[in-house]
Amino acid sequence: MTSTSDDLAALIRTIPDFPKPGIMFRDITTLLLDASGFARAVERIVDAVDGPVDLVAGIEARGFIFAAPVALALGAGTLLVRKDGKLPGATVAEDYALEYGTDRIAIHADAFAPGARILLVDDLIATGGTARAAARLLRKVGAVVTQAAFVIDLPELGGADALRAEGIDVTALVA
Ligand code: AMP
Repeated sequence: MTSTSDDLAALIRTIPDFPKPGIMFRDITTLLLDASGFARAVERIVDAVDGPVDLVAGIEARGFIFAAPVALALGAGTLLVRKDGKLPGATVAEDYALEYGTDRIAIHADAFAPGARILLVDDLIATGGTARAAARLLRKVGAVVTQAAFVIDLPELGGADALRAEGIDVTALVA
């Protein structure tokens, strides 16, 4: 954790045993309630971006909240990576493994042309399963995905390193 992230860490609340026993849920709703904290989080993600970005892809649901202001600041569009079944148009989907079973995320098939440079954003990276599935999905449709940003990283779960191993630079504001 860098010294500049301490102020953000203080705005993130930990709720033990949610949504099930043993999980320490890192709750960013308290960060969102603090206008200057939220603005600083967005600004630090924007500052970490390296090179041009065409679209910022937010992962449902808390990723949307950070992706949209980052995209506006970068002059990029906002792309929603949604749970399957939520998008109205033709979609492309990708499955990923959960602790028990699988889940599926989707994007609109016509959201971008091959070669689009996409920054992936979510509130938190844990095992990296969600973010890696999102990167696979975007790449399957032809996106260039070389950067991802998260407000929180849980480094002991190895997700950020797994993303880096797939050629994606990872920024996390708080560890
Ligand atoms: P993972 O796929 O394991 O990297 O999990 C990341 C996704 O699950 C993100 O969309 C997070 O919002 C959510 N998530 C996982 N673990 C936590 C946690 N301890 N606190 C809050 N959200 C979490």
